[in-house]
Amino acid sequence: MGLKKMKAMGIDIGGTNTAVSICSSAGKTLGHFDFSTPTSAKPEKTIEGILKIIAGKYPLDEIGAAAMAVPGMISPGKGFVFCAPNLGWKNFSVKKAVMKYHKFKKLVFENDASCAALGVYENYSGAKPDFLVALTLGTGIGSGFVSGGKIFSRGDISVFEAGHIKIIPEGLRCGCGAKGCLEAYCGSAYMNNWAWKLFPGTRSAAALSPREICGQSRKGALWAKKIWKQYGLYLGLAVSDIVNLLVPDKIVFTGGLAGAYSEFKEGLRISMDRNILPPYRKSVSTGVCARKRYIGADGAAKLALL
Ligand SMILES: [Zn+2]
Repeated sequence: MGLKKMKAMGIDIGGTNTAVSICSSAGKTLGHFDFSTPTSAKPEKTIEGILKIIAGKYPLDEIGAAAMAVPGMISPGKGFVFCAPNLGWKNFSVKKAVMKYHKFKKLVFENDASCAALGVYENYSGAKPDFLVALTLGTGIGSGFVSGGKIFSRGDISVFEAGHIKIIPEGLRCGCGAKGCLEAYCGSAYMNNWAWKLFPGTRSAAALSPREICGQSRKGALWAKKIWKQYGLYLGLAVSDIVNLLVPDKIVFTGGLAGAYSEFKEGLRISMDRNILPPYRKSVSTGVCARKRYIGADGAAKLALL
C-alpha cells in the first residue's frame, strides 16, 4: 500500500489515559479508542506497553503516518522529551523507543496541548478562526496556538507555555519552581492553595475538590461563587496578556475545569475587560470545547497528515 493511501494515527499520551484517533489519508476521522496508560518506571517500557495495546486493537501496518502528543517539554524535531512530569520522563528519546517497537513510515511528535489546539481547530463548527488559542485547564495548564490551520511550533523545543505566565508577582509557588504562574492558581492541583481563604472554614482546605466547588456554585452557595469568580479573575489576567500579544480571534478552554466555564466566565470577562487593550477587546471571544476526550488525539492524527 502506498503511503498516500495509508491511514494516520494520533496517539495522545496522558499520565492516566492514552487516547488514539485514526483518520483516513484524506483527513476523515475513522475511529477512536482509549485505555489506561501502562506506566512503568522505565519510559521505554511505558512506550512498549502503549504500542502493544494499540497493536492489539488496530493493525499498525495499515498506519502510514503517526503523531504522538506528549505531555511535557519536548523537541518535536528530535522526538526527545526534556521533561514530562506526569509520566516521570526526563531526557528521554521517545522516538528511539517507538521505532524500536514499530518502524512507522512517518513519525512526528508535538506537545499535547498544541495537539489539543489543532484538534479544537479541526473540529470547530462554523467558520474556522484564523488565530485560535486553546487552554487546557487540568491538573496543570496546557496551551497551544493555531494560526492559519497550523500549530505555532518550532522544531527544537515546545513553545507557548501559557501556564507559566506570571499573574501575581512573588505569588504562590508553581510546580516549575517559579512563583506566581497562572498554573499555580488555575491548575486543579493548585486551586486549594488559595480557594480555602474564600471558604467558610468548616472543613479542611484539602477536602475541597474543584468538582465539589462547581456543584456548590451551581446550587447557589455564595462561597463557591466567590471562588469561581476569583478563578475567572486570575485566568483573565493571563488570557489578557495572550490577547494583547497575539490578538487571537478565539480562545477555547478544554480539560476538566473547562466544565466550570459557566461558573468562572463572569470573573474572566471582568478581568479581560480591565486588561485587554481597547481595540482588541471586541475582536476576541471565549468558549469551551465540548468534545474533550479525543481532542488531543484528533489533533495529533491531523498533524501526522500535514
Ligand atoms: Zn510555573
